[in-house]
Parts: sequence; C-alpha cells; structure tokens
Amino acid sequence: MADEGCSYDHAVAAFPALTRTNAATLATGCHPGRTGVFGNRVWHPELGHLNTAVADDVRRLRGAGAMPQASVAERLSRSGRSTVVVGNGSAGCTYLLNPGSDAGHGARIASVGPEHEVHRCVPSDVRAAIEELGPRPASDDEALEWAVAAGVVSITTRAPDLLIFWSGQPDTAHHATGLTSTTSTEAIRRTDRAVRTLHTAVLDTGRECNLILTADHGFCETIESPELTGTLDRIAERSGLPPNGFVPTFNSGAVFGYFEPGTAPRLRADMTARIVQEPWAGPVFCADAHCPDGAFPLSLAVSGDSPFTPDLVITMRTEPTDQCGPADPPARALHARADGTQPYSGVHGTVHPADMRIPLILHGPAFKTRTRRDEPAGPADIAATAYTLVTGAPLDDVDGRVLTESLRDVTDAPGLLVEERTIRRGDASVSVRRTGSHSYLVGGVSGHRTPPEHRDPAQGLAEPAASGRQADSGNEE
Ligand SMILES: [Zn+2]
Repeated sequence: MADEGCSYDHAVAAFPALTRTNAATLATGCHPGRTGVFGNRVWHPELGHLNTAVADDVRRLRGAGAMPQASVAERLSRSGRSTVVVGNGSAGCTYLLNPGSDAGHGARIASVGPEHEVHRCVPSDVRAAIEELGPRPASDDEALEWAVAAGVVSITTRAPDLLIFWSGQPDTAHHATGLTSTTSTEAIRRTDRAVRTLHTAVLDTGRECNLILTADHGFCETIESPELTGTLDRIAERSGLPPNGFVPTFNSGAVFGYFEPGTAPRLRADMTARIVQEPWAGPVFCADAHCPDGAFPLSLAVSGDSPFTPDLVITMRTEPTDQCGPADPPARALHARADGTQPYSGVHGTVHPADMRIPLILHGPAFKTRTRRDEPAGPADIAATAYTLVTGAPLDDVDGRVLTESLRDVTDAPGLLVEERTIRRGDASVSVRRTGSHSYLVGGVSGHRTPPEHRDPAQGLAEPAASGRQADSGNEE
C-alpha cells in the first residue's frame, strides 16, 4: 500500500508517544496540550491517579474538564454522517476515539474491556449481526480477530461514512516479547491480515475506499527497567519538597511529574535540575515558567494550555542512534517503572526518533499514487484530513492541517517548505520539523554518551552543531 499510495517519511506521533495521548489527538484533531490527555497514567490533584485504559477513569477526567473538544465522529454525527469505531485496545482507548458515543453520536464497539462497554450507539441491525458472531473471546490476545469480524459486519450491514479501526497488536506483543520475537512477527502478520480483510470488505460493497494507515507511536527495545519511585522520592527530599510534594506517574518510556499546587518555583527548578543530571534521564520537558538550564520548555513539544498538562515530562535515556528504518536493528531505551511493577521487553514514550516516527500511508481514489512525502505529519492532521474527505469542509478550531499535498486532485500546489532545526540543552538535543505554521517534535537524543558533533543526516536545515551549555539559547520554537 505504501508503494501504491501516498506515504510519509517523516510522520510522527503526538508527544508523548503514548497510546491514549495519540488516541485523543486522533479523535479530536487537537494536540495533547489542548485535550489534556497526556498519557496512559496521569494524576490530578482532586481525582488522584487515573488509568486511561479504564473508560470510567477517562470519563472522570473528562468530567473534570479534560478533552472538552468534540470528536470527529461526534461532529460527523451532528451533520448527519455515520461513524463506527471498532477497537481491540483497552476500553479506555476505544472510548477516547469517540466519547460522544455515550451521548448517541457515532457507534462504538470494544472487543476488550468490561461487558458493559462493548456496544455504544450501535444500530440495532448491526448489533444483531455482531451478536451472531458469538461472544467476545475471553483472551485479549484473540480479540483482534473478533474486532475485525465486528468491523466487517459493520461495513457490510450498513457501511458508515467513516470507520476507525484500532488494533492493540502489535503493541501488546512488542511490550511483552520485544520487537524481533516470533510472537511480534506473528502479531504484525495478524494486523496486516486485518487491514486486508477490512479493506476488501469495503471494496466488496462496491464503494470507494480511502484508507489511512498509521500508528500511535513507534517502539524501542528495553535496555533495562529501573524502578524509580524511591529514587524520585529521594530527589524530592533533597530538593526540599515536603513528603508527597511531587507525584510521579509511570508511562513506559516517560515519567510525568506533578508538583503539589502552590510549590515554590525555586523548588520546582531545583528538583528539575537534579533530574536532568540523573543517568537514566533523557531529555526533560517542563512548564516554561519553571524551566531551568538543561531542561526543555514543554511548549517545544506540546502546544496548548490545558490545566491537565503535567509539570514535568521526563523522557527516559535512549541509545544515541538514529536507526529507525525497517532494516535497522531496533533502537534501545530504558523503561521507567514504579517500584515493584513488572519490567517489559519493549518500550515507547521516549523522544528517540524510533519512538516518535509512525507509518502514514494514504491509499485510495482521493490520494496521489506512488508518492512519498517529505512534510511532517501526525495524528491531528489525520483527523483533519479524514473529516474533510467525508464532508468536503474543513474541521474548524483544531491543531491539525488537512494533508492537501497527499490529495490527488491537488496537482499544481507548490511543495510545502519544510524546515528542521535542532535545539540543545546541555548535552541533550531535540529536533523540530516545521511546515508552514505547524511544527512537530520528530526526535531527540539523550545527553549521556552523545558525541557533541551528533547530527541527524536527514536534517538538511539543522543548525550547526554546537557543544557546551553556551549553546542553550535555542528555545525559539
Ligand atoms: Zn504500548
């Protein structure tokens, strides 16, 4: 499909490169800085710890004001178009793809999660056809095939204007067994078959099919899985914070940090500066008002001012390679975990390009054929593009752009100017790729063991490399 259609060489996940972060952005067209859905595990001063894999936790988060935007599915429903979301990720993930389904806007089918989350707003004829498939499999591992069957039934019973299909594989296999295991290879084959089955089902109805194939993040192999709860407690104590003055949440390749409201700026900066020096830390992002030397302003990675934004996003150290092509050995990163929790073989959520980069293939009559694009793109743009393809109208008040350069009937548009620059803090750096007024965090490298002359060969317009802290002027993005 990549060869036949239009594919992007520089598509990236929304930062942080985590599942529910990207589900919320794909659903709304808005960046995490506006949805406030930052990760898989988050904390809120009134709600406490929340696990966004649990649909009721996401409802509580939204009840407190997060993700105020209507989803694409809800907006389509309000203009008389139909959407079906089918997911075999967690129930929280499937819910995030269209929370409006709770209120009757767009159908939602979950093949994983509690029984009461399976169907929302599914038309009765579709629901009857799905019930003929038999019960959902007891094991999450077999839920992909049930979800595909539910997707096919949705297409053949009453083809929707938009179908969003979310596969939890190969993510599950990669976390459990690493990237090169036979289990992972088989998971990729199963996902590939799922795409073929769904695509064929649409074409068999005689309708046109515009298909956008992407992912919510990339992946690294785990170097090791340090337990960091006690370590962070000790750093907080040394910084003069009171007990529980700093709450971490663990998100695979990243740790989010929340200071108790009212924590003095001096203490925040002190703690952040200490974390930057830790051997397990990669680039550290913090709220711009409290950003000490060596840390990156969060606005480089995330635009918007949602009050649900963590104070710190500490990404984990990675090996300083740029390899993330299909033929390269997997990139490697540390996996952060709470004391006493399980290590994993695969990790994502760092800023390594292998975590940030995602496939993006647009295939079908609306799109250019045999084209590769150089522009950056991401999940917010996919939302904007999908909405416009269905309605012919723009999706207002979102962060994403319609990927006009991918469209077949836009033949004479000048190529979009693409710029990429590298911003350094201490020995760490991150790269931002821009097109027009849109900027995308495309990757970064940890400070430790990074040669000062390190540059990504793909960065045609990167600033000349500089070494030392004097180079820390670059927060212009
Ligand atoms: Zn994952």
